[in-house]
Amino acid sequence: MADSPEEHPTVPSTAYLDAMHRQLEGDIERVIEAAVAPTAPTAAWDLIEKCVEDLTDTLNHIVADLHAHPETAFEEYRSSALLADIIEERGFTVTRGAYGVGTAFEASWQSPDFDESKHPTVAILAEYDALPGIGHACGHNIIAAAGVGAFLALTAALQRIETVPAGRIVVLGTPAEEGHTGKEYMIRGGALDGVDCAMMVHGFGYDIASHVWLGRRSATITFEGVPAHASASPFMGRNALDAATLAYQGLGLLRQQMPPGDRLHAIIEDGGDSPNVIPRHASLNLYVRSGEVETLLDLSRRVDDIMQGAALMSGCGYRVEWDLNPMSLPVRNNEVLAQRWARTQSLRGRVALPAGVVPETLAASTDFGNISHLVPGIHPVIKVSPDDVVLHTEAFREWSISDNARTAAADAAVGLAQTAFDVLADPELLDAARAEFAAAGGAKSVEQLLSGEHQI
Ligand SMILES: [Zn+2]
Ligand SMILES: [Zn+2]
Repeated sequence: MADSPEEHPTVPSTAYLDAMHRQLEGDIERVIEAAVAPTAPTAAWDLIEKCVEDLTDTLNHIVADLHAHPETAFEEYRSSALLADIIEERGFTVTRGAYGVGTAFEASWQSPDFDESKHPTVAILAEYDALPGIGHACGHNIIAAAGVGAFLALTAALQRIETVPAGRIVVLGTPAEEGHTGKEYMIRGGALDGVDCAMMVHGFGYDIASHVWLGRRSATITFEGVPAHASASPFMGRNALDAATLAYQGLGLLRQQMPPGDRLHAIIEDGGDSPNVIPRHASLNLYVRSGEVETLLDLSRRVDDIMQGAALMSGCGYRVEWDLNPMSLPVRNNEVLAQRWARTQSLRGRVALPAGVVPETLAASTDFGNISHLVPGIHPVIKVSPDDVVLHTEAFREWSISDNARTAAADAAVGLAQTAFDVLADPELLDAARAEFAAAGGAKSVEQLLSGEHQI
């Protein structure tokens, strides 16, 4: 590595983040002060809490084992088998390779009188993929423990409870969240057929009931030039690297004219083979992200224009391929269910912040967005690390195997199980969640959003 000062990059200033955190500290204190004392838990909620406690060793084992054996998208064979085995050991039938995805799984419980046309089905999701090179730096080991723990604790409670509410609980093992939109493949395989609402949790630096998650599309752009001797006859060439460079500059300038919160990032993956040959091929890989489907599609079209312009300026041919991995939609948080989640967390000593307190600047993307556009859903985040630690860093990876991680997995398992129980036991809750979902536009698949009236 670099050993003289000029070989080092400059160190990014933390001033902006420091100011944001100072502001947030005050905002969070005000939310905490205004929070009303939690209402007393119901007998069912108490029982669920006890059932999660009984699972402490199992949840801690999941957190530790997955963290020690990180597996990346679609390669999570060990992780998936570990979770499926744990569920099977408790008497459930597990479908491995569910919905056409090799490392997915599904198990379910239903009440004796369950009738799909009358009674609700709640899906609890568990992710378990890691990041290439850096391991569980997104804390999906915690998500797995929380999701599987919620399913096992809730079903254990339902088997001990006197009046069993009618309904079905499904646990879905959902692989390949990182960069691959694995949930969209499962949706296309039928994973949401008959499901009325879906929920999962994600580790973070804050407790937030409803956070912003941006929609995301990826594109691969290839430029085709004409090779020529770079000195003897450059005028006979068409330079594909020039096209890629112009495109990259165009993207950089476009950032000035994007709405706040939109994101655009690209790399030049291929820029020729030799300086003395005018490059025949060049390619870029990029992501666009935005908080709304319409603005995401608008940003995509502006990227298309830049690619066309770069191709024209350089005299190259070009091809833009969107969505080689399916697009991730922005998360549509269901506030009715999110508020119920917040109530579960207040009993665990956490204040799950409402939407709008933590700035949208700290937003990433998740394929849960696609789920949340088809059924009412929640994707709350739970505090695992100090607030200045960011997902996808080595620091967050270390927090994902800490005492905080184990506590978060247990608190999240309790919260998911209690919220899911209420969906079964309290028909008004699901009615209200459905009404909110309908008011937000109802069910929309990726295909509908890409081909329907939303395509401008
Ligand atoms: Zn991630
Ligand atoms: Zn993640």
